[in-house]
Amino acid sequence: MFESLSDRLQTVFQKLGSKGKLTEDDVREAMKQVRLALLEADVNFKVVKDFVAKVTEQAIGEEVTKSLTPHQQVVKIVHQELINLLGTDNVPLQESRPGPTVIMLVGLQGTGKTTLSAKLALHLRKKGRRVLLAACDIYRPAAITQLESLGKQLGITVYSEPNSKHPPEIATRAVELAKKELYNVVIVDTAGRLQIDEPLMKELEDIDACVQPIERLLVVDAMTGQEAVRVAETFNQRVKVTGLVMTKMDGDARGGAALSVRSVTGVPIKFISSGEKIDLNTLEAFHPDRLASRILGMGDVLSLIEKAEEMYDAEQAKRMEKRLRKGKFDFEDFLSAMHQMRKLGPLQQIIGMIPGLSQLARDEELVSEKQLKLIEAIIFSMTIEERRNPELIKGSRRERIAKGSGTSVQEVSQLVKQFQQMQRMMKQMGKQMGGKGRGGRGG
Ligand code: GDP
Repeated sequence: MFESLSDRLQTVFQKLGSKGKLTEDDVREAMKQVRLALLEADVNFKVVKDFVAKVTEQAIGEEVTKSLTPHQQVVKIVHQELINLLGTDNVPLQESRPGPTVIMLVGLQGTGKTTLSAKLALHLRKKGRRVLLAACDIYRPAAITQLESLGKQLGITVYSEPNSKHPPEIATRAVELAKKELYNVVIVDTAGRLQIDEPLMKELEDIDACVQPIERLLVVDAMTGQEAVRVAETFNQRVKVTGLVMTKMDGDARGGAALSVRSVTGVPIKFISSGEKIDLNTLEAFHPDRLASRILGMGDVLSLIEKAEEMYDAEQAKRMEKRLRKGKFDFEDFLSAMHQMRKLGPLQQIIGMIPGLSQLARDEELVSEKQLKLIEAIIFSMTIEERRNPELIKGSRRERIAKGSGTSVQEVSQLVKQFQQMQRMMKQMGKQMGGKGRGGRGG
């Protein structure tokens, strides 16, 4: 996800980190690089300008330059401003009571609406909802059959009227059926066009008026960069969009769309989708803090745990999260998370969530079972005491562990260092979030 942006930013901060004390010039030079990196990632010009100004103002303050860890302070400011840019908190899907909750998906053709309908249906079914899919894309010849076959495959009912030429009526009858048969949610898959055109917008307005969806989600292809932002603005003017879903986050998107679209339109990103495969692993509730962490190579352990929780042992995952927030997450927890995650999904996606390993995730050669085995071997060579107190792992202990695991002292040191950084960061984040827990998880 956003690999080149992530690499560029991490390089800037590594350079800054090698300097020890920072002068105002150092910070300004770094910010120049940040600005270039964002522009190259196709982030909206105004958004970049604003972002850099905000970070610079805070970063050249005495509090930062005179602090003992100036470089970390700068990274922290960038992290926070990225979070602000992405929308601060997770905004969960709204539900209608009494139901059914009607969710309309809109967007250009090919952005991934039909795929998303199915993913969202799975996601909501997992939450205990009865979901009905309404096939209202009557123009793209294969759209209805695509949805029907997905529905069959997943065991989700699809409402369609192959001979109807009136999407608003199809949607209306789907909602009537949902009321009669007590479905909790109706997901309306609408037609897209290659470009925005008047008949399309009018049709969406008509569907909107007929079924009054509580959510009008705009599906945005993350690969299309700033163009996506213009499209989002237009859609938002016509059908008041309540949320955005960024798709194709697994591709080599530069990041421009995701980083600009919230700030330009004011509409929250609610989900991110990353993969053609339709399963629970490829749709995530969007958490600005987690994406910001991933971009800065800090990993995203919370998403990892959430995945584990969805798939496996919820109790264990909760315990882990609690420990993580208290800064008590140790190598034993890490090992057990790793074991779970290997069953969870695409190796690279998972690796990208681990602090310090996210840069590895883009190198298929490196992200192999072999690489994971290496990390595992290092942890296995630690004593239980060391796994519980990573700070014990110094000097001769590192040598012993390296020998035991067939790795180098440098590799051991690196793992320990990254792990400790992650611990500190998580503790800090845990404090910031206070008693909030995962209340904002939503979606
Ligand atoms: P629609 O025209 O908006 O309904 O788009 P579709 O759902 O048919 O998707 C268009 C293409 O994008 C299909 O080939 C999908 O498999 C693919 N696609 C959808 N979502 C994703 C995603 O998150 N990642 C990737 N890599 N491909 C996706």
